[in-house]
Amino acid sequence: MRLRFLLVLSVAVMAPAIQAQDVKTSLAASIDARQATYTAIADELWSNPELGYQEQKSSARLQAELKAAGFAVESGVAGMPTAFVASYGSGKPVIGILAEFDALPGLSQGAVPVRKPVVEHGAGHACGHHLFGTASTAAAIAVKEWMGRSGQRGTIRVYGTPAEEGGGGKIYMVRAGLFDDVDVALDWHPGSQNDAGPGTSLANKSGKFRFRGKAAHAAGAPWAGRSALDAVEAMNHMVNMMREHVPDGTRIHYVITSGGGAPNVVPDFAEAYYYMRHGDAQLVLEMWKRLELAAQGAAMGTETELEIEVVNGVYALLPNETLAQMIDANLRRVGGVTYTAEERAFAEQISGTLSTKRDLASAATVEPFARSDAGGSTDVGDVSWVVPNSGFSTATWVPGTPAHSWQAVAAGGMSIGHKGMIVAAKTMAMSVYDLLTTPKLVEDARAEFERARGADFTYRPLIGEREPPLNYRVNPK
Ligand SMILES: [Zn+2]
Ligand SMILES: [Zn+2]
Repeated sequence: MRLRFLLVLSVAVMAPAIQAQDVKTSLAASIDARQATYTAIADELWSNPELGYQEQKSSARLQAELKAAGFAVESGVAGMPTAFVASYGSGKPVIGILAEFDALPGLSQGAVPVRKPVVEHGAGHACGHHLFGTASTAAAIAVKEWMGRSGQRGTIRVYGTPAEEGGGGKIYMVRAGLFDDVDVALDWHPGSQNDAGPGTSLANKSGKFRFRGKAAHAAGAPWAGRSALDAVEAMNHMVNMMREHVPDGTRIHYVITSGGGAPNVVPDFAEAYYYMRHGDAQLVLEMWKRLELAAQGAAMGTETELEIEVVNGVYALLPNETLAQMIDANLRRVGGVTYTAEERAFAEQISGTLSTKRDLASAATVEPFARSDAGGSTDVGDVSWVVPNSGFSTATWVPGTPAHSWQAVAAGGMSIGHKGMIVAAKTMAMSVYDLLTTPKLVEDARAEFERARGADFTYRPLIGEREPPLNYRVNPK
């Protein structure tokens, strides 16, 4: 009798766990069943790489897929024509899934293991956002279908977030309050390894410093001219001296986007584009003021007019270990990317061109769970300060491949990228399932989030009041 009681009890306790494994298996199966469709979508985005805020076709393609699957789609949100929110379900919890789709300028590359642009100086998916957007869409559709079958309550939302590469689409969505009722927002990113450890990034404020002077014949009447390029050079010189007097961990970089047209004409217009980064958003704001002082000093000394346009400003990622551990378990369940003989040959050839060599077999494994601090920045940072958030990466690229490289474009356009995308879609779907069905997980993630950001935290975007920089990819002539 007693034995029987124990048996019944243990079955009752085990039942939800067994059910979860069954549901996760079915989520993976439904993504596998539509693999050809998702591969075709990713290839379509990859073949037509669109820059930040110009992603009309990519955004429309993902929206169409979500609409066809039964999501309600609102497009053009937060003042950005290519941003969208796709929703399904009702009530709590509300789980967000981020989806990016913008490409990078100048990195056009074929799906071949040697450097070979498709379009000379054209754009390319060197950060794999075509896979990012597609896998997030695939995960949401798989979860939606299961919700429909099971009657599971809750809301899933896909956030179509444009212009991650410097345009900060997510910031405007956060500022517009689109995440206010979200319980957890998850993201992932293409990479050269499978990794769900909690990671952070650098806060980053960027902007364009424009100087206007007076044109003159550089030999005939140089005294009549006031060189805008002199102002850019004077500013850069002051900033380069400033590097010695900034907090450790600061990163300052610039390019001159306009510096005049001909040496024999004193340039009446010049522009420098600056990034200021540090792990602490507050320090970034303080150092940004010093950049502005250097620019003002340069303008004064060269008798030019100064105009400053803040382009972007993102927070550092706020890690959430509760969520990271949950995702890590799902990523381990799904497993990494295994190569066919052909893919292995492709990977070996790519690996030969990389400065960092990593074991190609690592694509099939999941990295140990550990905290990582990345040197880059992402507008996911802003999301992570208003809602508990965590992300992961999968091996869509050959191990050792850095982001923003032609090697990343190459692998992202062939089966290695597609396989990594499917790993991501399955991991994401299983993680959203866990969040929908485990209230304690959402509560714990929220408690950790509140502790980490502090009781008196108020979100203030680093970009201030500016509108989305819809033309930031257009350089002045
Ligand atoms: Zn990137
Ligand atoms: Zn990226």
